[in-house]
Amino acid sequence: MPEQSLYLRPRTDPPLASLLQDAPFLHALCDALGSPLNVLLPEVVADNADRFRSVLRRHHLAGRVYFAHKANRSSALVRRLAACDPAVVGIDVASLGELRHALSCGFTGDRVMATGPKDQEFLWLAARVAATVNVDSPGELERLAHLVRTHGLGRVDILVRLSEFEADGAYAGPGTRMLSRRSRFGTPVAEADELWKALERHREHVDLAGVSYHVDTTALDEKARALERCVLVMDECRSRGLTPRAVDIGGGFGVCYVADAGEWERWTTALSEAVLGARPPLTWRGHGYGLRNEGGTVRGTAALYPAHRPVAGPDYLETLLTRPAPVLGRSPATLLLEHLDDLHIEPGRALVDQCGLSLAKVVDVRPTGDDPRRHLVRLAMNAGDMSLEEHGVLVDPVLLPRRGDGDRAGGEAVGVYLVGNLCLEADLITRRLVYLPRLPRTGDLLAFVNTAGYAMDFHAHRAQRQPTARTVAVTAEDGAWRWCPDEDYWPLSEPQGVPS
Ligand SMILES: *Cc1c(COP(=O)(O)O)cnc(C)c1O
Repeated sequence: MPEQSLYLRPRTDPPLASLLQDAPFLHALCDALGSPLNVLLPEVVADNADRFRSVLRRHHLAGRVYFAHKANRSSALVRRLAACDPAVVGIDVASLGELRHALSCGFTGDRVMATGPKDQEFLWLAARVAATVNVDSPGELERLAHLVRTHGLGRVDILVRLSEFEADGAYAGPGTRMLSRRSRFGTPVAEADELWKALERHREHVDLAGVSYHVDTTALDEKARALERCVLVMDECRSRGLTPRAVDIGGGFGVCYVADAGEWERWTTALSEAVLGARPPLTWRGHGYGLRNEGGTVRGTAALYPAHRPVAGPDYLETLLTRPAPVLGRSPATLLLEHLDDLHIEPGRALVDQCGLSLAKVVDVRPTGDDPRRHLVRLAMNAGDMSLEEHGVLVDPVLLPRRGDGDRAGGEAVGVYLVGNLCLEADLITRRLVYLPRLPRTGDLLAFVNTAGYAMDFHAHRAQRQPTARTVAVTAEDGAWRWCPDEDYWPLSEPQGVPS
C-alpha cells in the first residue's frame, strides 16, 4: 500500500503564482546568479499596503501603515514603499542602519518611526530628520530630551511603547484570565507614571504624539485588550494636558502559508501520533517540535507557527477592529473614532506576504540508508539562507524540474529530507519529512514560497564561505518578467500586466 503523502502545499496568489509557472525564467536566473537566490516582487508590497489602507478607510480611521523593516533587508521593497502615498505609508526602523537605509531609499524623516532600544547615534539621527521616536523606556526619553536640548534640535514627536497590559487587573472583566507576558520591550502600563512625569518635564523638547504596543502573539483577545487599554491611556494623557493623536498597535497580523486547512490539520494530528509512536516519524530523528510522549500522553506545546490561518493580514486587522473589545464592549474601530484617535500599524511579515521566494538548486539526491523509501536531497543553500523553520513555519517547497513539463508527469510522491550545504549534522532546511510529487534530480530547483518575511535574509551568514543569496527584484513588463539586482531597482516604471 502506498504511504499517505502529508503535503503542506504553499498558498500562492497571483502574481507569485504566475511567476512560479515560469520555471525556465527562474532556472535562467539561478544559472546566472547562483544558488541560493532570493526573488522579490516589489509591486506586491505596494498592493499589500493598499489592502491595509482599505481597512483603515472602511472604518473612517486616519493613520499610517509603517512597514517593519526588520522583516526584510531589501532596497527594492523599501523604495517601492517610499513611492506609495506619503500620507499613508511609512517605515518602522529598529536600528541606525535601517534608518539610514530608509532615508537613502526615499523616505523622508517625517514618514519614519524609530522603534526598539536605541543607541545615541540612532536617537540623534532620528531626531535630526524629525522622525517619530517610539520611546521604549523613561531612561530613553531622558536621553532623547537631553540630546534635543544640547544639540539644539527641533521638538521631537514621540510615541511611548507600553507593555504588560494584563498585569494590572483594573480593567479586566470578570473571569478574565490574567495572562501576564513579560516583555523585554516597552514600559509596563503600571509603571507609566514615570513616563508622564518625564513628558511634562521635557515638554519643550518632546511632544507626545501617541501611545503604542507590539505584542508578539497571534491571540486576538490579548491584542484587543491592549488596544482598548491604549484608548483609555490616551484619555488619561489628555486629562494631564498632553495632546496625543494616535494609537500604534504594532505588527503581528500574520500570514497564511499553507493553502489547505485540511493538510495542516492532518499534518499536526499525524505529528502527535508520531510522537506517541502510533505511526512512523514525520521528522528527522523523531524531532517533536516541542511535543513529547509522557507515558502515552502528548505533552508540551508545539513550537510551530499556525501555518494555515483562516484570518491573517488585513483580514486580521479587520477582525481586531470589529469584534467587541473585552471591557467597554464596543468595537475598537468605534472606540478609536469616538475618541478621535488615529490608528497606526506596523506590519512586517504581513506586509511582505506573497512578495518573494527563495530558490535552491538540487545538488545531490541519495537514499537515507535506513529506509529505502526515504531520500536525502542536498541543496545549494543552508538553513541560514531559508529560515522558515527557524520561525516554526512549516510549508513545502515547489519543485521546478530542469527539464520541462513532460518530465513532471511521471514519478510518484516521495518523502525526502532537505539538507543544506554545511558540514553540520544540524544543517537541515527543515526537520520535517517533506513530500514532493516525485524524486527531484540534480539540477532541479526547489522554490520556497513566501520567504520575504524574516526567512530570506534574517539569518543569512557566511559560515564555510558558502555564498549568501543574491537578491533580485522582478517586475512585469510587456507581458514578460524582467529582473534587476535588488540594489538597482527604483520604482520608476508603471506597473503592467502580469505575464500569464
Ligand atoms: C517585529 C516588529 C513588528 C513587526 O512584526 P510582524 O509580526 O512582522 O508584523 C512591528 N513592530 C515592532 C515594534 C516590532 O518589533
